Amino acid sequence: MPTLTSVFIERRRLLSAAAGMAAAGLVAACDGKRPTAIATTPLPVPKRSAPVPLPGEVAHGPRTGTEIALTFHGAGDPALDRRLLKELESAGAQVTVMAIGSWLDADPSMARRVLDGGHELGNHTQNHGDIGSMSAAAAYAEITQCAERLRRLTGSIGAWFRPSQTQHASAMIQAQSRKAGYRACLSYDLDSLDFKDPGSSAITRNVLNGIRPGSVVSMHFGHEGTVAAMPAILDGLRSRGLKPVTVSRLLGS
Ligand SMILES: [Zn+2]
Repeated sequence: MPTLTSVFIERRRLLSAAAGMAAAGLVAACDGKRPTAIATTPLPVPKRSAPVPLPGEVAHGPRTGTEIALTFHGAGDPALDRRLLKELESAGAQVTVMAIGSWLDADPSMARRVLDGGHELGNHTQNHGDIGSMSAAAAYAEITQCAERLRRLTGSIGAWFRPSQTQHASAMIQAQSRKAGYRACLSYDLDSLDFKDPGSSAITRNVLNGIRPGSVVSMHFGHEGTVAAMPAILDGLRSRGLKPVTVSRLLGS
């Protein structure tokens, strides 16, 4: 039976032998020659704690669980937005608010208000222009101006960036978002169409008819119909056994 110490010494011997062989291979490769094949002891696989890599754009979470994410374009009258947050919190729902920078400029206290309710904040550009038609430099400025406000108000730029006026992020948008420090662009797989003000029962129907485990739902602050629809939406989710959580929780990150 090997003792713990002998196992440790043997492991260290194997590791340093393998490191030597790797170094020899590196020298040969730098010479421009293919390293010759040597019989090596496989290196132990290190345990990794790095987050699971995400694609450049995420539209939904796992389809096998019971969680979904309600995500809101963060804008509008702060009094209306506070009513909506209260409604969500009274049902124990946690959501993700994709803040527009100019909305935070108009009422900077909204950033803390969102986080204090147990919700998550993300970046939805500074001015909500048509980001898909902007130059890369202009798109980057739209992202970083909002990120600066989030950092100043909360200490973090938030985990996600959602492009404005487009459901999907182009390669250019994904590259600028990554450069600004975001893990992925946040799309959605269910549109409540609440921004068209179709009335609260239509909004409720749109959400409850389309919802599936893992869904990311696009909704909007600043619309009376959205606030009015929320109790029925939250009831309907509960009766389907679905729980609204933040996007970071939905994606396990
Ligand atoms: Zn928006």
